[in-house]
Amino acid sequence: MIVLNLLCDHGHHFEGWFASGDAFRDQSDRHLVHCPQCQTSGISQLPSAPHVKRAGTDVALPERPGAPVAAPGVAQLHQALAAMARQAENVGERFPEEARRIHYDEAPARAIRGIATADETRDLLEEGILVLPAPIPPDDEIH
Ligand SMILES: [Zn+2]
Repeated sequence: MIVLNLLCDHGHHFEGWFASGDAFRDQSDRHLVHCPQCQTSGISQLPSAPHVKRAGTDVALPERPGAPVAAPGVAQLHQALAAMARQAENVGERFPEEARRIHYDEAPARAIRGIATADETRDLLEEGILVLPAPIPPDDEIH
């Protein structure tokens, strides 16, 4: 459907809905289009561009800036971290010690997870050991 801006012989502006511009011209030629105010069939289309009715066609329109996109959200990030955590060896409270051992090649390199205090985490980072504070579910949710 398109909406056309129409003008009757008596200067009344109104909008008409048509399947296409051709449909309007066809109906107008057959005097099927009438002004809603004075009922004349002397209707002309104003030169302004018709706009396409958008209802139901939004998905086909180009993306607008700021439109929601399927970017990874916080929930997906948490899921990814939880998936990583499931594959990591749980070393519990030995995490800071084990992270250091891995970092200094005293233990096999592997993904580990565990518990570290904020101070311990900061110390590890200062030693150049990459640790990632993550919202890992409790152990009983990881199998
Ligand atoms: Zn009129």
